[in-house]
Amino acid sequence: MSTIAHEKYEAVIGLEVHAQLLTKSKAFAPVTIQYGGAPNTQVTPLCLGHPGTLPVVNENLVRYIIKMGLATHCSVAEKSIFARKNYFYPDLPKGYQISQYDTPICFDGFVDISLDEYDKRIGLTRIHMEEDAGKSIHDQDPYNTLVDLNRAGTPLIEIVSEPDLRTPQEAYAYLSKIKQIVQYLEICDGNMEEGSLRCDANVSVRPRGQKEFGTRTELKNMNSFRNVERAIHYEIYRQIELIEEGGEVVQQTRLWDTSTEQTRAMRSKEEAHDYRYFPEPDLPPIIVTNELLDEIREELPELADVRRKRFMEEMGMSEDDANTITESRYLADYYEEVANNLGNPKAASNIVLSEVLRVLNEQSIDIRDFTISAQRVSDLVKLKEDDKINSSAMQQIFNAMLKEDKEPEELAKEMNLIQVSDSGFLEPIVDKIIEDNPDEVARYRDGKKQLIGFFIGQAMKASQGKANPKLVKDLITKKLND
Ligand code: ADP
Ligand code: MG
Repeated sequence: MSTIAHEKYEAVIGLEVHAQLLTKSKAFAPVTIQYGGAPNTQVTPLCLGHPGTLPVVNENLVRYIIKMGLATHCSVAEKSIFARKNYFYPDLPKGYQISQYDTPICFDGFVDISLDEYDKRIGLTRIHMEEDAGKSIHDQDPYNTLVDLNRAGTPLIEIVSEPDLRTPQEAYAYLSKIKQIVQYLEICDGNMEEGSLRCDANVSVRPRGQKEFGTRTELKNMNSFRNVERAIHYEIYRQIELIEEGGEVVQQTRLWDTSTEQTRAMRSKEEAHDYRYFPEPDLPPIIVTNELLDEIREELPELADVRRKRFMEEMGMSEDDANTITESRYLADYYEEVANNLGNPKAASNIVLSEVLRVLNEQSIDIRDFTISAQRVSDLVKLKEDDKINSSAMQQIFNAMLKEDKEPEELAKEMNLIQVSDSGFLEPIVDKIIEDNPDEVARYRDGKKQLIGFFIGQAMKASQGKANPKLVKDLITKKLND
């Protein structure tokens, strides 16, 4: 691939993201959803479309999608209807999926993404509701495909972006943003690896400067953020190469193959009319009143963008730090609790960004699984602020707290790390250091004031790290200037 070709072309990317909602029951049936249940145990005649069954809309499906719509600046339709999307597949016993077609409940929104060099606004075409199909399992039996219908009828929202994305990095940033929003709203756990967030990427290329879009392909089967980025990258180059060789891009669905790191053709692209959409006759339209909208607006949490700004303005945080801390709602909650307990935002961000995040990264865990409570972390920092321990002791106690379920003060005592702030104990130590180092004392008194560090170091050592460095400094300064 020559770089010339790369410079000649521009990619156009639009993402379709499916988010599995965290409702307690299915989209149109009163069946409890429990993850990890034995296959085919969460199925009723309704999920199978048996005659005589009728769907009922789960109210939370509607509330959750409206939350998402409001959080992404969408308009919310006063009236929208469900539609049947008809197709055959073994994991779809009803022969159709309940979805929405030309009246999505949310439309015309946007999200803002941030890249290293620039910020960009990405349009959202629509967000609609639908139900999931079951799962075909191809790798458990050597001869047969197995079907698990537990997932059939679980609620999904599909978020469709405008073709506003231009690079794999922008697609990655956009997807991260969607994940962050659904997590802040607590409507989806956002886990791509486990399939609760899924992404199809539509990719085309066109010569730079050309207005019309090129023919697109749709990429599927990417089950991580990195794979989405890689698959799009691969596909852009595949299309450019094809065009440069005189070929033409065929509109088709392609699968990302993680083992070869390539996309391969799966089927020619289906068209909407192939699905024979028609209005779902068994469900009434969804009517969204202003009262409902106001109620849901009230329930919205402070979202990451707003929170980041507030942390920068009120807490004096740098943009980078604010980005890191607000990346997850729960980390931001944790930080705020520490900051409020301490009344010192800077000390709070110091410990969260250094110690807490270090452990989360080392153990690859979420802040919700972190064993030290925000209360204990603030108590620990408080010990240091009150000069009861010094910073190296703080770190040792923090590490001990990871292993032992004990209060920081208790550990400080057990580990013999409480600072000595008693001048009766420190004076003899300081006197001895002055006596033992006549040369340094003379040079200090001659004006080499930076030697104070040397004296403090000696005193800290002699006290086995327990001396209060501030008190030591005061004592030494006083004695040397006597
Ligand atoms: P479907 O995949 O069901 O046909 P749409 O026509 O609504 O759905 O388009 C799906 C996605 O494809 C949208 O995210 C849209 O932005 C994107 N898209 C449409 N045309 C192009 C194109 N030429 N290149 C890249 N993406 C495109
Ligand atoms: Mg599509």
